[in-house]
Amino acid sequence: MSLLKIVYYPEPVLLTAGKPVSEDEFKKDLGGVVENMFETMYAAGGVGLAAPQVGISKRFFVMDVPGEDETRQKAAFINPEIVHIDGEQVGEEGCLSFPGLFQVVKREMRVVVRAEDVKGEKFEMDLTDLAARCVLHETDHCDGIVFLDRVSALKRELAKSKIKRLQETGKWA
Ligand SMILES: [Zn+2]
Repeated sequence: MSLLKIVYYPEPVLLTAGKPVSEDEFKKDLGGVVENMFETMYAAGGVGLAAPQVGISKRFFVMDVPGEDETRQKAAFINPEIVHIDGEQVGEEGCLSFPGLFQVVKREMRVVVRAEDVKGEKFEMDLTDLAARCVLHETDHCDGIVFLDRVSALKRELAKSKIKRLQETGKWA
């Protein structure tokens, strides 16, 4: 197990749509990469981490969201596809590629997502609340979209100037 390096905005890999994971790649050590991504996410205190955030331009992510009861929504989503969305939620979001920057983002309340596991087995999950928010945020990463793309132009410009200041003072690294 090893920790991976998380890349920060505006690294080009974060702004590029990832390539689908191919049949062949399932036969390689996808499980090992996924384990390292879980470890990296836990070490950084996140609930989701997408491949582009560790410099891999591919469509997959890991998630571990605590549920309201004992249910924990932990899974790796390879080649995720959102097949249904409904409702609405407004809440604060963070991102491991934007250290210390939080934004209020409007998302759908419920999502049905189809994906494959590390062995290439297809599955479907019906999620709400934080888990739905996380799946939408991470699927966006797979498509080269970051949460700043989901806020108003004004909020985006404010956030960008804050990032610039942090970069200049060496606090964005
Ligand atoms: Zn993120």
